[in-house]
Amino acid sequence: MSDVFFQPVSGMDLPRFAGVPTFMRLPLVGFDHDRFGDVDIGIIGVPWDSGTTNRPGPRHGPRQLRDLSTMIRAENAATGVRPFEAVNCADLGDVGPNPADIVDSMDRITAFYDHVLKAGIMPLTAGGDHLSSLPILRALARDRPLGMIHFDSHTDLFHSYFGGTMFTHGTPFRRAVEEGLLDPKRVVQIGIRGTAYDMEDRDFARAEGIRIIPIEEYFKRGVDDVMAEAREIAGTGETYVTYDIDFVDPSFAPGTGTPEVGGPNSFEALMVARLLEGVNVVGADLVEVSPPFDQTGGTAFLGVSIMFELLCVMAGVRARATG
Ligand code: MN
Ligand code: MN
Repeated sequence: MSDVFFQPVSGMDLPRFAGVPTFMRLPLVGFDHDRFGDVDIGIIGVPWDSGTTNRPGPRHGPRQLRDLSTMIRAENAATGVRPFEAVNCADLGDVGPNPADIVDSMDRITAFYDHVLKAGIMPLTAGGDHLSSLPILRALARDRPLGMIHFDSHTDLFHSYFGGTMFTHGTPFRRAVEEGLLDPKRVVQIGIRGTAYDMEDRDFARAEGIRIIPIEEYFKRGVDDVMAEAREIAGTGETYVTYDIDFVDPSFAPGTGTPEVGGPNSFEALMVARLLEGVNVVGADLVEVSPPFDQTGGTAFLGVSIMFELLCVMAGVRARATG
């Protein structure tokens, strides 16, 4: 049992609609907090959507995700995992982006994560659009390329948009491969679907050895079989997990900018994250929740429920590493 300081506020003590909403009702621990160095897993908001090419809004994601995360309780009833007792989890606040400058925002995000990693903290991120993953990977994969398990309707592997713009939420993993942040042979993309501009992204994936599991194959094989292959591709090496909420069918997750029909339901959305157990996860993100397109908060509640599953897996990795 970890330090009482890091325990979430229980709904048995203070009703869950009361209090200041931090991620999963954990303590808010900034860089200058005297317990910063004691944090094992830090949950971080990246309220930034300057990479969005269509419907915006994920800059408002972290605030709504924090609000809905007050619904999360301490135990994963399916697995018995109690992550907040296994390791010290905290809300590390938001990265302050520069909404008028994409490159400056990315530099600010990378600097924030450099600081977090220097303290030995594993980051779990609430986006933000999917371009957020690139500056995070620049910090996390600075010394060696990582494997990656990627849930999404889209590959986000395009070369550029609008005749040469290199940084959008459709290009982060093209840049990450080019910059040597990912080992493409240890990257798998699951749930890919929808209409396409062309096959340029998939041609790149094939040439680099990135494994794409389109939604047709996903449903044909089933979640257990697909995730067994994903774990095999990631292997035992260090692996990043990136989860675009548009992986989920828009009937369950309408609050996102680029929805694609014909996706997994909310139960499978949780199962794919739970079945990451055994992967050497070094960081994860949940991106593309756009509150203006789902003011009921349903999409955000699914988002934080996925984050809780990711946290349970990460807590296991961390607890085994620290003995
Ligand atoms: Mn994406
Ligand atoms: Mn997507």
